[in-house]
Formats: sequence, C-alpha cells, structure tokens
Amino acid sequence: MTEPGAGSDLRGMKASARQEGSDWVLNGTKHFISHADLAGFTIAFMATGEEATSKGPKKKITAFFVDKGTKGFTVREGYRNVSHRGYTNAVLEFDDCRVPAENVLGEPHRGFEVANTWLGATRLQVASTCLGRAGRALQLAIAYAAERRQFGQSIGKFQGVSFKLADMAMELKAAELLTWEAAWKFDQGAVTEADMSMAKLKATEVLAMIADEAIQIHGGMGLMDDLPLERIWRDARVERIWEGTSEIQRHIISRELLRAVGG
Ligand SMILES: Cc1cc2nc3c(=O)[nH]c(=O)nc-3n(C[C@H](O)[C@H](O)[C@H](O)COP(=O)(O)OP(=O)(O)OC[C@H]3O[C@@H](n4cnc5c(N)ncnc54)[C@H](O)[C@@H]3O)c2cc1C
Repeated sequence: MTEPGAGSDLRGMKASARQEGSDWVLNGTKHFISHADLAGFTIAFMATGEEATSKGPKKKITAFFVDKGTKGFTVREGYRNVSHRGYTNAVLEFDDCRVPAENVLGEPHRGFEVANTWLGATRLQVASTCLGRAGRALQLAIAYAAERRQFGQSIGKFQGVSFKLADMAMELKAAELLTWEAAWKFDQGAVTEADMSMAKLKATEVLAMIADEAIQIHGGMGLMDDLPLERIWRDARVERIWEGTSEIQRHIISRELLRAVGG
C-alpha cells in the first residue's frame, strides 16, 4: 500500500492501474514493503479511478496479485532500519506491468474492503508481540532492581526505582487487558475498529515506556548489547509507526466516539 508520497493517507496514492481489454496495466512506486524481497508475489493496492462523494472526489482502490518475474515489476532493496534489523523492506516499481483480470483480489475498486479484512487483526498481532517484549523487559528490570546494590542497599529499595516498577507493571496489565478483550471480541465477531486501535496504541506505547525505564533501571549496562534491552528498545520504536501510527489510532478511536453522537 505505502508509497513515498502516501503513508497514513492511503487514498493519496499515486500508483494506478488502468484497464486494457481484460487486462490491467499497473504503474507507480511503493516503498517500505515488508519482505517483498523474499516473497514470490505481492498484493499491490492501486488507484483505479475516482468516485464523487459528499466530501468531494475519492480515489477508488483495487488490490492485485503480482507475481515476481512479471514483466514491468521490479523489487529493489529498501532502507536500513533501526528496528527489527533482520526484517527487510523493499521498494516496488511498476512500469506498464500487465496482469490479467483474474489477478484482482476481491472486487475491482473494492480494495479497501479487502485491506480491512486484515488491517484490524494485524493491529492485534502488533499489540500481542509488544506485550511479550514488555513483559521480558519488566522481568529483567525487577531482577536487576533486586540484585544491584548502590549506597549499601539494593536499588529496588529506593522509591525512585521501585515506583517505576509499579508503574511498569500496572501499565503492562492495562495493555494486556485491552489486548485480550479486543482479541476475545474479535473471536466473538463483536470487535470494533476502536477496540483494536486502543489495544495497538496502548501496547505499543507501554512497550516504549517499559523498554526505556528498564534501561534506566539498568543504568549504563542497559545500553550495552550484552543484555537484550537495547534491542527491545530499538525494536519498540517502529511499533508506534507501522500498521497505522499512534496518531492514526487516536484518530480511529475519536472518530468512533464522535460518530456515535453524529459528530
Ligand atoms: C519497517 C516498516 C515496514 C513496513 N511495512 C509495510 C508493508 O509491508 N506494507 C505497507 O503498505 N506499508 C508498510 N509500512 C509503512 C507504514 O505503514 C507507514 O510507515 C505508516 O503507515 C506511516 O506512513 P508514513 O511513514 O508515510 O508517515 P506519514 O503518513 O507521512 O506520517 C508522518 C507523521 O504525520 C502524522 N500524521 C499523518 N496524518 C495524520 C493525521 N491525519 N492526524 C495526525 N497525524 C497525522 C503521522 O502520525 C506521523 O507522525 C512499513 C513501515 C516500516 C517503517
């Protein structure tokens, strides 16, 4: 989906597909595409026209399967990332890339419906993986606070440290409960966009806070790659950006609140 000029605002995408006979011809550039270097095919979202709405013209989007090796489709190496260094991203280029009509995923012009069948669930996956890492960082911080001695006592005896542990544990529990409730509602078929956004937002922000405080409690050793904390801290950064930034999650939550009262 994402393009150099269109991230949060997906409908601002410039990459497009036009119909020629029964084929579609794709043009444009996508970037930040996870593991496209390894995959045998991509699912490319392309603008396929505009429709008039009460809020003005809106781009219609269609999803296409494109096999690697298709003429006019190039996968280039992406950027180096501070988070998840083993996780690659790629740039995709489409230059008069022709695919048959059977490569449309879902219905033509209904690409957003296709994306929405998984976007909420992937937000829950992001939330869940954050909880695991936050829990590990907290356990490391607790163990270190109990064992590390300064000024003749364990540092966990100083309220400046122990109150951090209390806040970390409380915030982690809040994030877990939000995620578990959203996942449970997902299984019941009763989940809302706001439920999944709240879980993603809270879990990613709690991971950032816990990773940072766990390093603070470890002092200088927290930054050394002898311990897993610096990696947890680095990897935490991307979680507030991909699968919808924290600001976009807040937008989804507040939109649901306001729509309920006609706002
Ligand atoms: C490692 C990695 C892998 C990725 N993998 C994929 C992938 O496989 N497929 C894919 O399609 N995309 C992928 N992405 C893209 C990711 O989803 C986008 O980076 C993300 O949606 C944000 O878009 P952007 O980076 O263009 O930032 P922008 O949208 O330009 O946002 C910049 C800033 O403006 C803020 N902002 C924008 N709009 C608003 C608004 N309305 N209200 C308030 N604030 C706003 C944002 O929150 C952010 O802080 C990946 C990104 C990364 C970093």
